[in-house]
Amino acid sequence: MDIDGARLLSDLRELAAFGRVGTGVNRLAFSAEDIAARQWLLERMRAAGLEARIDGVGNVYGQTPGVSKAVIIGSHTDTVPKGGWLDGAMGVIYGLEVARTIIEAGKDGGVDVVSFADEEGTFLGTLGSRSFVGALGEDDIARAENGDGEELSAALVRAGYGHQDRARLDPARHIAYLEGHIEQGPRLEAEGKRIGVVTSIVGMRRMLATFHGQADHAGTTPMRLRKDAGARLIAFAHDLTERLRDVAGPDSVWNFGRIAFDPGASNVVPRRAELLIEYRDVEIAVMDRMEATIRAAVETADGGGGVRTEAVLLEAARPAHMDPAVGAVIQAAAAAAGVEALVMPSGAGHDAMHLADKVASGMLFIPSEGGRSHDTAEDSAEADIILGCQVMVETARLLLGRTA
Ligand SMILES: [Zn+2]
Repeated sequence: MDIDGARLLSDLRELAAFGRVGTGVNRLAFSAEDIAARQWLLERMRAAGLEARIDGVGNVYGQTPGVSKAVIIGSHTDTVPKGGWLDGAMGVIYGLEVARTIIEAGKDGGVDVVSFADEEGTFLGTLGSRSFVGALGEDDIARAENGDGEELSAALVRAGYGHQDRARLDPARHIAYLEGHIEQGPRLEAEGKRIGVVTSIVGMRRMLATFHGQADHAGTTPMRLRKDAGARLIAFAHDLTERLRDVAGPDSVWNFGRIAFDPGASNVVPRRAELLIEYRDVEIAVMDRMEATIRAAVETADGGGGVRTEAVLLEAARPAHMDPAVGAVIQAAAAAAGVEALVMPSGAGHDAMHLADKVASGMLFIPSEGGRSHDTAEDSAEADIILGCQVMVETARLLLGRTA
């Protein structure tokens, strides 16, 4: 059973025209471009023979009619500001192309296709997939707004979705969830592999360390008499880097993403300093160890140089594990297409992390050129885009228990 590579690429290019900026796409959730792209996708799904609709949070959802079991395939079609043309969009068009291929083959069992709303968090990150698995509360919707102060509930009404009911995962029908995605990193390219099979999506925690010193004249105050919040932060960051190296796992990553000094002037000793720390790993135990290490470093630093030091946890997302049996099927499908897959974690979050709680889930990656993503430079080789979809149709076929 072969997908139509030319049709796949042509649909991807058509979708990329909604919100095009140079080689990239600007299609923020519930912008005019995003709403138009959802309508286009709805029509494409219907043309493919799916029973399709847009639900109450903007999910575009198409079901194969007349079947009792289905693999559900999807991702998202919204983008970050000035994002790439493949992030999310490719996984949705994979679903569409796999559904078309299987419907045309006239086989039993089916493929349902979904484009989840606002994965990128213009209003509320992974809004659509959270709604789809029943992990979204009314208070989550009520609180959410975009950077311009528009409320999510108002945006849903403006888009014409607000009064629709919300589509839900159907455990009696859905035997597995599959998501194809660009890797958004350099590992596949570095290893010379064309297909990645995701084991887990890493968990992430964000902590804010704050240093409380005293503002003084930077010319008149002797060094030994200063309570310099900025100098303490810099020493702390060095110390913490060493400590994290000692406790990190092989795939742990961490980042000091923002430093802020108050008042932030060349002639004033910083009164207050803030360090934003983010770290990720696939194992909760490793993340716990990293958090304990940060707290220990804070305890060591606290009070030194007359600067009080504290840290708070701002945000936490736990790791999500893909289903090993589904992963094995993706590997077998890749082998059938003549390539050996790389088994790897995902360092980025995806809609699959919510689906994985409720249904056997698998993710397939293809290489990102230069590892670039969340930028207009994002691209992948046409041959890899087509190969990924071919592996996905074979995966769906195997999962549906078919013979070609
Ligand atoms: Zn994405």
